[in-house]
Amino acid sequence: MAALFCQCDTNYYRSASDRPSASCTRPPSAPVNALSSVNGTSVNMEWSPPSSTGGRSDIRYNVICRKCAWESSQCEACGNRIRFNPKQMGLTEPAISVINLLAHTNYTLKVEAVNGVSDLSLEPRQFISLNVTTNQAAPSQILVIKQENTSQNSVTLMWHEPDQPNGIILEYEIKYFEKGKEQQSYSTLKARGTSVTVSNLKPGTRYVFQVRARTSAGCGRFSQTVEIETGKSVSLRYDTTTIIWICFALVTGLIVLLAMFICKKRRCGYSKAFQDPDEEKMYYQNGHLRFPDPKIYVDPHTYEDPSQAVREFAREIEASRIKIEKVIGSGEFGEVCYGRLKLPAKREIPVALKTLKSGYTEKQRRDFLSEASIMGQFDHPNIIRLEGVVTRSKPVMIVTDYMENGSLDSFLRRHDGQFTVIQLVGMLRGIAAGMKYLSDLGYIHRDLAARNILVNSNLVCKVSDFGLSRILEDDPDAAYTTTGGKIPIRWTAPEAIAYRKFSSASDVWSYGVVMWEVTSYGERPYWNMTNRDVIKSVEEGYRLPAPMGCPAALHQLMLDCWQKDRNERPKFIQIVSVLDKLIRNPTTLKIIDTTSRLNSPFLNRNIPNFTSFASVDEWLDVIKMGRYKDNFAAAGYLSLGLVMRMNIE
Ligand code: AMP
Repeated sequence: MAALFCQCDTNYYRSASDRPSASCTRPPSAPVNALSSVNGTSVNMEWSPPSSTGGRSDIRYNVICRKCAWESSQCEACGNRIRFNPKQMGLTEPAISVINLLAHTNYTLKVEAVNGVSDLSLEPRQFISLNVTTNQAAPSQILVIKQENTSQNSVTLMWHEPDQPNGIILEYEIKYFEKGKEQQSYSTLKARGTSVTVSNLKPGTRYVFQVRARTSAGCGRFSQTVEIETGKSVSLRYDTTTIIWICFALVTGLIVLLAMFICKKRRCGYSKAFQDPDEEKMYYQNGHLRFPDPKIYVDPHTYEDPSQAVREFAREIEASRIKIEKVIGSGEFGEVCYGRLKLPAKREIPVALKTLKSGYTEKQRRDFLSEASIMGQFDHPNIIRLEGVVTRSKPVMIVTDYMENGSLDSFLRRHDGQFTVIQLVGMLRGIAAGMKYLSDLGYIHRDLAARNILVNSNLVCKVSDFGLSRILEDDPDAAYTTTGGKIPIRWTAPEAIAYRKFSSASDVWSYGVVMWEVTSYGERPYWNMTNRDVIKSVEEGYRLPAPMGCPAALHQLMLDCWQKDRNERPKFIQIVSVLDKLIRNPTTLKIIDTTSRLNSPFLNRNIPNFTSFASVDEWLDVIKMGRYKDNFAAAGYLSLGLVMRMNIE
C-alpha cells in the first residue's frame, strides 16, 4: 500500500495545521534592507521580506530591542516602558515604530522572520539588526499632582518626577489662573523641587493648576489640570482707632520698603537679594508677556570687598553635606573631585568639587572664589551651574553640577567619528545658546574653546571656566602678545589679539573655532602651525578649511564667525537660529563641501597672487600647506595655472 504522506527531510517540517500531504517547509531566511529613522526618542523601522520564505506564505516578524552602553558593547533588554506600534511580535507588515526610548541612548533592534515551522526548528533564528542612537527629547508629562495644603491665599502642590525625565530636570514650571479667566491672565512660577506653594491668591476663588518639567532639551507637556478653591476670607470688624493704626503701619512699611529698594538699585545695579533663587514669576496680562527686568552681569572686581560678591551670588554649603568620592582632574588652584551633595529636603545629587589647595595666599583664595561669584549669577541649561561654595571649613570648595563626560575636546577625541551630524549640531546649538545667554547679560568669556566646555551623560554641553585669572594663568594654550596679557591665540579674534578689543563679537570668532573643533572631533586648530604663523595667516585672509565630512552649511557659519570686520559676524542669537533650522531640516546637512580641504587657503574668497611663486610646491610651503603637496600632485594640479583655474571654478 502506498504511503499517505512522506517523511520530511532534516531541517524541513510540517506545522500542526498543515495537511499531512502538504509539502515540507523550513523557517525563512532573515529579512533584508532594514532602514531606520530616529525622531527624538522614537525609531521607525522598515525592512523587506526575506529572500527565502521557506516555502510558506505565513511569514511574521518579531522585533527584539536591546539597550547598549556607550563605552562597551554590553547590551541589556530594553525594559517594559518601551512601546511597539502596532506590536512587537507576530507582525504581518514589514514596519514598526518603537517609542518611549530613552534619550541619547544606543539601541540594537533585531528583526527576525518566522513562519509556521520556525518553532519546530532547532536552528538559530535568522535576523537582521540595526544600531540606532536616539536624540534628545523633552521630559514626559507629569501624571499626578496632589494638593497638600490650602489656605485663603495659598495652595501647596506636590507631584512626582515624570516617568521619563530624558535628562536632568532643571526646573518645573507651574502655570495657574483663575478658573475661566485663562484668556485674560495667567501666571507661571518656577520650582526646582517637586513641590511648590503658590501664594498671593484670592480667597474663596477657584484656581486651575498645571505643572510641566524642563530639561535642557526643552519643556515637557503640561500635566492635566487640577482645580483647587482657596479658603473663604473671614470678615473682621475693627474700631476706628485700630483702622487708623493699621493704615499708619502700612504706609510706614511701604515708605521703608521703597527707600530700601531705591538705595539697593543705586548702589549695586543688579542685586540678587531681591530675587527668590528658586522661583521666578512671569505674568501674562492682556495678551502681553511681562518679563522681570533684564539682568546685567556684575563684575566681582567692582566690589570693594570681593567676599561680599561671593556672599551675594553663592550660597554657603556645610561641608557635612558633601561626600568627596574621587579625584577627576586638576585645576589651576587644586584638585577637581567627584562627590555627592545632599541638601535638606532635596535629592542627593552628583557634583564636581573644585578645591583650593592648602597653603594658598589670600589673593589666591579671592581669585579662586571669584569664579563662584561669576558662575552664581548665571542660570541657564548650557552654563555650568553653581550649587554653592564651602568657605567656612577646609578645603575651600566650589560645588558645581557634575559633568560625566568631562571636557568637550578630550571627549570628542575619545569618540572620534562616533556621533551623527545631528548630535554634533545639537552640541553646538547648546554651546551657542549658553553663549547667547552670557552675551545678553553683557558677559564676555574671552576663552571660549572646546577645552572649556563640559559635557554631561546626556551629551548636553555647558560653557564653563569663568575664573578672572584664568586667561593669565590657567590656559596652556594662552600666549603672551605684544600688547601685554596672555591670549589663547588660535581661538581669539584678530582685533582682540592686536589691541585687546574683546567683545561678544570676539566670542563669536572663538565660537567659530569651537565649531571647527567639534566637527573635526577635537583636532587642534591650525594643527602644528606656530602661534606667530597663525596670527600672520589669519591676518592675510587664511581661514580653517572644512573638516572632513563637515556639512557645507556648518563651514559657512564658521566662515561667517571669522569675518575680519567684527560687525559683520553673526550674533549668538542668529547662530542659535541657524543651527535650529539645520536641526529641523537635516537634509541640508547632507551637502558636504568636498573641495574645501583643497581650497582652504582661499576661503576668504580672494584670488591669491600666484605670480610670486615658482611652483605649486613653493606656493603650498609659503601658505603653510606643504603637507598637501602629494594631494595636489595626485589630483593633477601640477602647475599654478591649474590651481588658479580650480579656485575660480
Ligand atoms: P578646570 O579647573 O575648570 O579647568 O577643571 C579641570 C578639569 O576638571 C577639567 O578639564 C575637567 O576634566 C574636570 N572638571 C571640571 N569641572 C568639572 C565638572 N563640573 N564636571 C566634571 N568634570 C569637571
